[in-house]
Amino acid sequence: MKVAVFSTKAYDRQFLEAANRNQHDLVFFEPRLNRDTAILAAAFPAACVFVHDQADAVTLEILASRGTHLLALRCAGFNNVDLKAAAELGITVVRVPAYSPYAVAEHTVGLILSLNRKIHRAYNRIKEGNFSLDGLLGFDLHKRTVGIIGTGKIGQILAQIMKGFGCNLLAYDVYQNPELEALGAKYVELEELFANSDIISLHCPLMPETHHLINDKAVEQMKSGVMLINTSRGALIDATAVTKGLKSGKIGSLGIDVYEQEADLFFEDLSSAIIQDDVFERLIMFPNVLVTGHQAFFTENAVSKIAETTIANIADIEQNRPCANEIRAEPIAH
Ligand code: NAD
Repeated sequence: MKVAVFSTKAYDRQFLEAANRNQHDLVFFEPRLNRDTAILAAAFPAACVFVHDQADAVTLEILASRGTHLLALRCAGFNNVDLKAAAELGITVVRVPAYSPYAVAEHTVGLILSLNRKIHRAYNRIKEGNFSLDGLLGFDLHKRTVGIIGTGKIGQILAQIMKGFGCNLLAYDVYQNPELEALGAKYVELEELFANSDIISLHCPLMPETHHLINDKAVEQMKSGVMLINTSRGALIDATAVTKGLKSGKIGSLGIDVYEQEADLFFEDLSSAIIQDDVFERLIMFPNVLVTGHQAFFTENAVSKIAETTIANIADIEQNRPCANEIRAEPIAH
């Protein structure tokens, strides 16, 4: 099948070409998919996109009117796709539901350890010949309480790792995962998780029910000095509420791999530009905030699995085979 691959970086091309083994005719485009760039996919039966591409109703209409009937996501989350519009336009949507939950869970642990032991600050200090320990005091993770919101694939692996550190586990999810209970995690209401966790980590999808899950009220309910981590989706957090929490000291540290307005920033080299997002610029000025640019998924294992699954998904649809990774407008059954 002829596939228009949007948002192509060198690594996408490398891994997709390796997985493709000349099965499909892949044409790589650097721009993101949106209503202005959709025309690039004219006469391509398939378009392949990532997290910052915008597959809204207007964009999908342009794709459909030019002959595209398959949208292959190179990611798990599909909050950037209007699934209802896709269904109405006859566009099949497929995704990569799991590539390496270890990649994201391990990156989450990296943020926790760095923030706690101030490794990001120590790295800079040592380069400047400053060997003072002032300001680098951390705490033992052993016996601390970690609250995990969203206990699916990534949340479960994080729970296993943190159990290994000797942490107590609290959990919140709309479905209870028996694997978590087997680890000794206690499912509680959100309010109780906020009130009793030393570290809170978000691993639920972004949907209307979870938008700004972390807002002023939630921050108020948290323990003073809490560490908050988000490697899921930026809009789970109201960045203004969290900034207030950081300024008052209620939030002791923040680690984020995702940010609500990240589409304007992440995956690009903006080192010579003037960043216009004042909320983001304020956040990165805090010494107790660590931001990574949506890289939690970025391991060889995960990128290779994303490419393999994407190529297989496209082949399934091309050959009219049922594709287990197809997503539809109705909620996915658990
Ligand atoms: P998953 O589907 O296995 O788990 C998500 C869990 O969230 C499920 O157990 C689900 O029941 C739960 N959930 C749904 N609604 C909820 C709600 N209202 N409150 C609490 N929990 C709720 O997904 P996963 O593979 O563990 O991925 C989790 C999230 O991580 C994804 O949604 C995605 O946004 C994000 N992610 C980020 C990166 C990255 O590079 N930073 C990479 C992959 C995934």
